[in-house]
Amino acid sequence: MKRTTRSGPAGALLGGELPSDVEWTAITGCDASADGAFWYAVRSTGIFCRPSCRSREPRRDRTLVFRTPEQAMAAGFRSCKRCEPEKAAKPDEAWLSEMEGLIAERLRAGLSLGELADAACLSPWHLHRRFKRATGLTPQQYIRRERIARAKRLLDDTELTAGAVAKECGIPSASRFIALFRQEAGCTPAEYRRRTGGNRDAEGGKAE
Ligand SMILES: [Zn+2]
Repeated sequence: MKRTTRSGPAGALLGGELPSDVEWTAITGCDASADGAFWYAVRSTGIFCRPSCRSREPRRDRTLVFRTPEQAMAAGFRSCKRCEPEKAAKPDEAWLSEMEGLIAERLRAGLSLGELADAACLSPWHLHRRFKRATGLTPQQYIRRERIARAKRLLDDTELTAGAVAKECGIPSASRFIALFRQEAGCTPAEYRRRTGGNRDAEGGKAE
C-alpha cells in the first residue's frame, strides 16, 4: 500500500473526491434516492458502497466519492458485501423511464424542477446531475423538448389555437409559447401548421 499523507490530496490521487455537503448528507442519511448518482469509498476499510448502504457511518475525511463503481474499483476499493454497489451500476434506465413517465403525465400542469425533484424524492441538485448523466440533457432541456414535441403533435392532429396548444403543453402564455416554439422548431406554430397541415383546413376534420 502506498503511504498517503494524513490530510493531503489523497482523494485526487485515488481518483475520488471528498464528499460535498449534499453527498455527505445522502451518505449519513442512507438516502436511496442518491443511489446511482455517486458511490462512496472508505479509505480505512478499502470498501465502497452505495449512498443507501446501512453500514457504519464513515469518517468524512476518510470518505471518497466516485462517479461510477468502475472508478472506485480502479482505485483499488472492493465492493461492499452488504449493498453490492457494483450491481447498482445501471439503475438509471429504470429510473429514467419512471422520470419520463412522470414528466409526460404532468407536462400539462406546468412542471417545475422543484416539483419534479420532490416527486422523485431527490434534491434538485441530484435530479439535475443524474438526469443529465442519463440523458445528456438537463431536466429543463428535456421538458422543453417534450413540450415542443407535444405541441407539434397537437398542431398536426387538432384544430386548437396556438394559445390552446400552449396550455395543453403547460405553457400559460401564448406569446411565450410562440417564442419558445420558434427557438426550438425554427418557425412559429402557425408556420409549422401551414407547412405540415396540408389541406386540413379545407377538409375541416380532425386527423384522429
Ligand atoms: Zn455497503
